[in-house]
Amino acid sequence: MRENLLKLKESALQELSCAAGKEKILDIKTRYLGRKGELSSVIKEMGKLLPEDRPVIGDIANSIKAEIEQKINSLLNKIHEEEQFARIAAESVDVTLPGRHLPSGHIHPVTLVMDEVKEIFIGMGFDIAEGPEIETDYYNFEALNMPKDHPARDMQDTFYIGNNFLLRTHTSPVQIRVMEKNKPPLRVIAPGTVYRRDSDITHTPMFHQVEGFMVDEEITFGDLKGILTLFLHKIFFEDTRVRFRPSFFPFTEPSAEVDIQCVICGGRGCRVCKMSGWLEILGAGMIHPNVFKAVNYDPEKVSGFAFGLGMERIAMLKFGIDDIRLFFENDVRFLRQF
Ligand SMILES: [Zn+2]
Repeated sequence: MRENLLKLKESALQELSCAAGKEKILDIKTRYLGRKGELSSVIKEMGKLLPEDRPVIGDIANSIKAEIEQKINSLLNKIHEEEQFARIAAESVDVTLPGRHLPSGHIHPVTLVMDEVKEIFIGMGFDIAEGPEIETDYYNFEALNMPKDHPARDMQDTFYIGNNFLLRTHTSPVQIRVMEKNKPPLRVIAPGTVYRRDSDITHTPMFHQVEGFMVDEEITFGDLKGILTLFLHKIFFEDTRVRFRPSFFPFTEPSAEVDIQCVICGGRGCRVCKMSGWLEILGAGMIHPNVFKAVNYDPEKVSGFAFGLGMERIAMLKFGIDDIRLFFENDVRFLRQF
């Protein structure tokens, strides 16, 4: 029996010494030390031994078992260590590698123009005001001298939200809101998004406008011309020619449409200016007495001018873009050009 145990130990250690891999080792473990393994079957035979021989053989069996177990554990530990080492090596970061380039965004051309417009007016002492994009009929129309059934309402294709609310069609309601809360002198611009039911190569349902106004005692049309000419010279070119044409808006009287000499052809005539040499750039006028009355200003004591200009229009001319829809399709190939 002793012989058998020693042979068993020999063959187990022999097999383990050439076993490659965890599975092979675990298989050997089961075969020799498992409940139905070879060592167990030898031990079962111990009942046939003389009682005095049993403890001796038992000791041998236990020490053999311990020896095989120890060998197995040390092999498994070694494999585990190797695996861990390989994993750490795979996960390690090589800090000397060059960084990966992440594409960075650009400021949208409309935002660029908006920022430039704000900067010019802030430089002339104007404050910036904002108002809600969902307006009431009162602020968008009525307080601006456009009572219900006023024909001028048809000029603006309005998105209505129920009977009384709408998406503002211009930034002019901010003029009313600012005047309601403040007393002259006022010098304010109100940039923001406006909405109209319109869509083609020069119109989008949402676009950006800057409303501006100046109210004080004795503000004249001369102030309007001076401020707007200075602004247009700064946003386009120092020598850009500016022209004021009589026009009509319900909220100003007199009203003017302001043109600049075509920045594309220099006034010779091209497709963009429809061969006229001039480009319509903004609307302006002296604030109507009825607008002052709506905010409890005395039109006999104060006067002022107001103007509104579209940011996309200016961006199109500055950057030579011929389709307004390009601004909102967000094609990065287009946006990257600015
Ligand atoms: Zn032209």
